[in-house]
Amino acid sequence: MPLEQGRVSVLDRGFIFGDGVYEVIPVYSRRPFRLAEHLRRLQYSLDQIKLATPHDEAAWTRLIGELIARNAGEDQYLYLQVTRGPAKRDHAFPQQVTPTVFMMSTPLAPPDPVLKASGVTAITAVDNRWLRCDIKSISLLPNVLLRQLAVEAGAMEAVLLRDGFLTEGAASNIFVVKAGALYAPPKDHLMLAGITYDVVVELARQDGMPVHIRPIAEAEVRAADELWLTSSTREVLPITALDGQAVGTGRPGPLFQRMDALYQAYKATTMRG
Ligand code: PLP
Repeated sequence: MPLEQGRVSVLDRGFIFGDGVYEVIPVYSRRPFRLAEHLRRLQYSLDQIKLATPHDEAAWTRLIGELIARNAGEDQYLYLQVTRGPAKRDHAFPQQVTPTVFMMSTPLAPPDPVLKASGVTAITAVDNRWLRCDIKSISLLPNVLLRQLAVEAGAMEAVLLRDGFLTEGAASNIFVVKAGALYAPPKDHLMLAGITYDVVVELARQDGMPVHIRPIAEAEVRAADELWLTSSTREVLPITALDGQAVGTGRPGPLFQRMDALYQAYKATTMRG
């Protein structure tokens, strides 16, 4: 149906409690990108909040195919949300409830080439979110507030630090390049396991770039030769200024150029199927 005709109960636990999870899946040339991985992460998030999946993998795949087919663009991004459903307001799980599934498609434009050519700016912020950032929860108020801090500082992203270590961005994962090697924090309860993160790590390893997955201290972030942010809709972007200081040379670095080429080539192969 047209988006503006969608209706959800005001008693929906997604609305009342933020009791739900979501996914964002890019679609290139009408093919969902890394669909199996997105569906696996959705199942993981549902399992973590103890919500039985309303559809098995085959049914999700069918619904996603239908959503893509019913929308015009070659490139789209799909937003898919599952909440625990409508029930009398009570924190504890309701006995009998039907989950609410909402899916929408939005046209997807590739990142502006200007952003890749000049880089984006970021600020650091204290990661004051909860201790289950591995769940792709629709309760995004902390992320919203952190991202707004960045916007108010004239920056695109907030790079989050918890107890002196890098976690991720407010809506992205963060990579550090130092002396020709790529560094990323380990996937744990303090960050979302990005699908793009996995693609970047895989492509870097295949290309022979040294990759180190380990905790990254704040000082290493500030001394980076390059910083990248990754997400499904923004792909890989170079951060060229952090807290008003140039990152490395202040220009997108050679490893970013290499990774962007690898990423675009990989996208192209998935489009051909
Ligand atoms: N971390 C957070 C907090 C996010 O919101 C996102 C996605 O927008 C990511 C990481 C990147 O995940 P993905 O690459 O799966 O889009």
